[in-house]
Amino acid sequence: MRYSNKVFGLRGLIQGIEDKRKRPQITMEEIFGAGLIMALGQLGSLNALEQIKKQSYWQRWLGAGLASADTLGRGFSNTDADSIRKAVRHAYSRLKRNKALEPADAGMIALIIDGHESNRSQLRCCSGCLKRRLHTRDGIKRENYHRHVMAGLLCKGACLPLDMEPQRPGEDEVSCAMRLLTRVLKAYPRAFDLILADGLYMRAPFFKLARKYKKDVIAVLKDERRDLLKDAKGLFKQEKPKFYQDGKVERQCWDIEHFTSWEQLGREIRVVCSLERKRVKRQKTKKIHYESSEWIWASTISKQRLSTEDFVKFGHGRWKIENNGFNELVNYWHADHVYCHNPAAIEAFGLLTMLAYILFHAFIGRNLKAVIRHKYTKKHLARMITAEIYPCGNFIPP
Ligand SMILES: [Zn+2]
Repeated sequence: MRYSNKVFGLRGLIQGIEDKRKRPQITMEEIFGAGLIMALGQLGSLNALEQIKKQSYWQRWLGAGLASADTLGRGFSNTDADSIRKAVRHAYSRLKRNKALEPADAGMIALIIDGHESNRSQLRCCSGCLKRRLHTRDGIKRENYHRHVMAGLLCKGACLPLDMEPQRPGEDEVSCAMRLLTRVLKAYPRAFDLILADGLYMRAPFFKLARKYKKDVIAVLKDERRDLLKDAKGLFKQEKPKFYQDGKVERQCWDIEHFTSWEQLGREIRVVCSLERKRVKRQKTKKIHYESSEWIWASTISKQRLSTEDFVKFGHGRWKIENNGFNELVNYWHADHVYCHNPAAIEAFGLLTMLAYILFHAFIGRNLKAVIRHKYTKKHLARMITAEIYPCGNFIPP
């Protein structure tokens, strides 16, 4: 916490949070500060936080004792998520100013957009719940669930979650993503050059929105019914591919520009295909196997701006961030946990988890000496932080 306060001015961030509530039981500083400690300590529940209520540092950290789990839950239900977004934006600015965010490839930083289902329940429901019918052995059952779209930056060796937007009842993922993208484009106009998305986002309005702000898009092209894919596959048969080796992967790539088959988009588009063969040594049998895969992407970016090799790296970058960045948020940072089943609280906790993730990675990446960073796993370092919060530790907040 000392690091977060010194480098990111965390205390100022917390004190600057706008309080729109009419008769608050506890201050926003108490709610936000307690939630952030819970997230940084990866405690995973408000009840776990309540169990360390007697620690003396709460007075120093929050200027008050720790409220009960119920009070904090109610507080988060009335939290203004934009205040937390401002805190994430501030953390990003500090990292950018300190040159901590280096371009991934070809001097570019990409924004990854991806949808995610956070939780489901057949019993509990709130005004933000999406609904679906499940055909089970016992007949049709109704299920309530939450989905949101996340936006994160793909930088060199790092993933930086920036924002999330809950999917509203009755709307599809791409509409939700466009609302998120509009906000991100306004809040972070110069943070990225490219947008990476999966096959679902091959929609003309999504591409047009990105181009309006002069950003290029790379999206997976996999819908066999599309004229663009049919045309591209036809041309790939006539063109000679480019062969190259990328580590353990042999690539055979076709890269063609100026397709006009996507009429709704109203502009030319580039299609890149990569047939890949990866050499894998099986641990059990020690035998060498080859895994093959085919990837096709469509993009607005020209060959002049992004070479085939760098294009393919970015295409796979989306997959990398899904596995390393977003999965880490879910598996270690409890991003999917429903701390309080209320739409505002779910959004606030999601954003707070992103902020905790940024602070933690900034701490280990920028503050720890390389020898310590390489000696211990991220999980071990996170556990050391958790241990500091418990009575046996010597956690001393500023
Ligand atoms: Zn709900």
